[in-house]
Amino acid sequence: MEIPFGGKCACGTVTFQCATYPLAMYNCHCRACQQTSGAPYVPLIVTNLDKVEMSGNYRLLKSYVSDDPHSQRAVCPECRSVLFAANDTFPEILLIHAMALDDPSCFLPVADIWTSDAQPWVAMDTHIPKVFKSPPILGEQVI
Ligand SMILES: [Zn+2]
Ligand SMILES: [Zn+2]
Repeated sequence: MEIPFGGKCACGTVTFQCATYPLAMYNCHCRACQQTSGAPYVPLIVTNLDKVEMSGNYRLLKSYVSDDPHSQRAVCPECRSVLFAANDTFPEILLIHAMALDDPSCFLPVADIWTSDAQPWVAMDTHIPKVFKSPPILGEQVI
């Protein structure tokens, strides 16, 4: 992955650039990611909020999922692309939806997380670890 890396929403109203390497990259299978994206899981880049520059105003959505591990999600007010997720418990952490990257091919997941919610028909990479709920960096949760 080349640093800085950046991306934008589908219409280009909201853009972002990250000045440092990700802290981690995960495929998140939680129900909130599934329902907000319409996909079985979301590739998430974990980074520090203060290392990301944004232009254009995104809109924060409240969560409609009762046990959402990412309590905030940011969308473009124009095209409704989902760009970011965040967790109230870790306000310094920003989760970037990797499909918003200019070059999503640089995404390299280190684990599948929230596999407790994974769909049985999803084929996962057997070479990377599986985390049943949340990894420690995102607030390990008691099962
Ligand atoms: Zn947009
Ligand atoms: Zn998730």
